[in-house]
Amino acid sequence: MSADFLPYGRQVIDDEDVAAVAAVLRGDWLTTGPSVEAFEVAFAERVQARHAVACSSGTAGLHLLALAQGLGPGDMVVVPTVTFLATANAARYVGADVVFADVDPETGLMDAPRFLEAVDRAPKGSVKAVFPVHLNGHCVDMPALRAAAEGLFVAEDACHALGGDQASRTGAMVPVGACASSDAAMFSTHPVKAIATGEGGVLTTNDDALAERLRRFRNHGMVRESADFRNHDMAFEDGDGVAAPWYYEMHEPGFNYRLNDLQCALGISQLRRLSGFVEKRRKLRDRYAVLLDGLGAHVRAVTVASGCDPAWHLSVALIDFAALGTTRSRVMRQLRDRSIGTQVHYIPVHLQPYYRDLYETPALPGAERYYERCLSLPLFPTMVESDVDRVVEALAEVLGLRGGASITGMKS
Ligand SMILES: *Cc1c(COP(=O)(O)O)cnc(C)c1O
Repeated sequence: MSADFLPYGRQVIDDEDVAAVAAVLRGDWLTTGPSVEAFEVAFAERVQARHAVACSSGTAGLHLLALAQGLGPGDMVVVPTVTFLATANAARYVGADVVFADVDPETGLMDAPRFLEAVDRAPKGSVKAVFPVHLNGHCVDMPALRAAAEGLFVAEDACHALGGDQASRTGAMVPVGACASSDAAMFSTHPVKAIATGEGGVLTTNDDALAERLRRFRNHGMVRESADFRNHDMAFEDGDGVAAPWYYEMHEPGFNYRLNDLQCALGISQLRRLSGFVEKRRKLRDRYAVLLDGLGAHVRAVTVASGCDPAWHLSVALIDFAALGTTRSRVMRQLRDRSIGTQVHYIPVHLQPYYRDLYETPALPGAERYYERCLSLPLFPTMVESDVDRVVEALAEVLGLRGGASITGMKS
């Protein structure tokens, strides 16, 4: 990778981050110490949720949600097909099945009608949950989805949307993760996401019982609260109602999905800069949108969905490659030759061989239309505006659209 290579996304680590991690290394805890709770408190406060539960990855977080909700064989979970594999796989980890929903071809988001269309394809009464995905940083219209999903467990895959705001039922804007119209939200702190902890994930919820179950399943299913103990003769050997100091129970097996103190110290430090990261992403993405829209009818930035103030995890161009006489593979290779990294988010999950073998999902035309045109361009907070200009100029060149007047005409 050359020094001026622009990847599609990357983390921003500064001296304060390094110092925060080094301080933990010099201290007493490397696993579950005070930084874990401090990170959870800071995170919950930032997104205005009652609880935040840190875990080892976003994928682990999705698994924990499925476990804590008691999803299992015979249960169906609706998942939009344009998402990362993990959103659907989480249902499979607990033996539940997935119904893939179509998405809007212009935003890549599942809306309430498309959710209901997926429910109609499942056996009556079998759908127990829905995992809406806030693709690119946009938000699904959650008040409408919540109303359509009455009685179901609604957990937002908000991996792309940390730092953004979304409309609540009253129309007031609330942070993504406040769970104003859902039971829980899940974030990833993988380095390409809004903040980095190496690997990592955070769940938020306003439901006390759900938070408790998530914490239990995160730590092997261990029960430490004496009021919940079932083997009373073993727990209370002195007959005074005080549990033995070593005692714990397990009622259901969980996992080791903990996030450690080193990671949480980094998370706290990163979270302090989240608003700055988001502002920078918005500025860069707005510049992309103007420049891309100057490239003619076959290229444009993804449409902005209403009811949200997106944090822009990705800057996605929708390109009609065939109309421009090229292919996406060729364009990606030509951009790579110009030190520009791009990516495709995502291959519709229902087309994966595993899911093709498992289910007969009908054609999902919105997803296919979105997928065939999408290309994620470099976007991360340390990019500068001239990087955006370089990307769009290179894109115009490889698409045979050289000399777009609006590029040279736009002031920094
Ligand atoms: C990143 C991501 C995940 C998985 O998160 P990990 O922390 O990498 O396990 C799940 N869903 C979406 C939409 C993501 O972008």
